[in-house]
Amino acid sequence: MTKTRIWLSSPHMGGTEERYVKEAFDTNWVAPLGPNVTSFEKSLEDYIDGNLHVAALSSGTAAIHLALEILGVSHGDEVICQSMTFSASANPITYLGATPVFVDSEKVTWNISPELLEKAILNRISAGKKPKAIVAVHLYGMPYQIEEVAEISCKYDIPVIEDSAEALGSTYYGKKCGQFGNIGILSFNGNKIITTSGGGALLAKDPVIKQRAIFLATQARDDAPHYQHSSIGYNYRMSNVLAGIGRGQMEVIDDRVAARRANYNYYKAHLGNLKGITFLDEPARFHSNRWLTCILTDAFETREKLRMALAEEDIESRPLWKPMHMQPVFEKCPNFVDGTAEDLFVRGLCLPSGSNLLEEDLERTVFTLTKALQQ
Ligand SMILES: *Cc1c(COP(=O)(O)O)cnc(C)c1O
Repeated sequence: MTKTRIWLSSPHMGGTEERYVKEAFDTNWVAPLGPNVTSFEKSLEDYIDGNLHVAALSSGTAAIHLALEILGVSHGDEVICQSMTFSASANPITYLGATPVFVDSEKVTWNISPELLEKAILNRISAGKKPKAIVAVHLYGMPYQIEEVAEISCKYDIPVIEDSAEALGSTYYGKKCGQFGNIGILSFNGNKIITTSGGGALLAKDPVIKQRAIFLATQARDDAPHYQHSSIGYNYRMSNVLAGIGRGQMEVIDDRVAARRANYNYYKAHLGNLKGITFLDEPARFHSNRWLTCILTDAFETREKLRMALAEEDIESRPLWKPMHMQPVFEKCPNFVDGTAEDLFVRGLCLPSGSNLLEEDLERTVFTLTKALQQ
């Protein structure tokens, strides 16, 4: 019997997506905006339940770009960004001609360290370069130290962009992620907890921010019968066809979170006692959607041994994100690091975590890891 490939995180349709997409075709709402976009936005607002106004966009990256622009980031500015993240958290800073300043993680959530964040802010202020914004990330679904980061944001009056691309369905003190920053962002890329095949959203409590986001996302057209423009715009709105997929996905979001958390619990139950492997536990009142289950090994060699043993069995796994301050493209950017993110990168591995994994997939993965560890 040939074994099927086990993916890290693949799309998982709920069943009703096609109906909404077909509706778009039947009503000829194939042009960009339409009722699926409005309904999808409404379902996100209801689900996150933080008095938010949601603008559906073409990607999470576009959402971060617009968030930065709305917060007034421009050429020559500096923006603080969590170093341990996917490059899309940082890239849009450079689209605006600004410079990212990278801050290391703390060990409890693997996200931005409040101590180093404050140190970075004080340093940049004394250099006459007060940061314009802070990009903080709920990595792999684990909320960052939200209260501590919010305190620093208040103290120095620097707004937070809450990168919730990986954290739809995660909660902090019972409240859903996406509502804690001055502006929040989500991603519906193909590998995320729900997908529109490609898409994102910008979230804010202030309705004016949503209006501004939609204005910028639809070519910044002034109020005139002809096409008139007083600012530079973008083509960043979500299409009505793709929003149809999103509507269907929102009907099963709770199942998706439950399935991902069950994956984590399965791995933890079967691998948690093995020497050389540890898991990232949830601090009290932090609730991760466990978008990806990650393990920390005791050394780079162990991580590579496990990764290769899985690849041999046609099981996809991946090292944790390589920190941005270690990326060639960001080499010259200022950074405030203590080695935490680098150590996570060296020793960490993401395991197959899709909500559509079968029990036998999990068994095969655990069996392969256990065997490799004994060698
Ligand atoms: C996926 C992701 C993004 C970007 O979202 P896209 O929709 O792929 O543009 C941003 N930040 C993080 C942390 C992500 O994982």
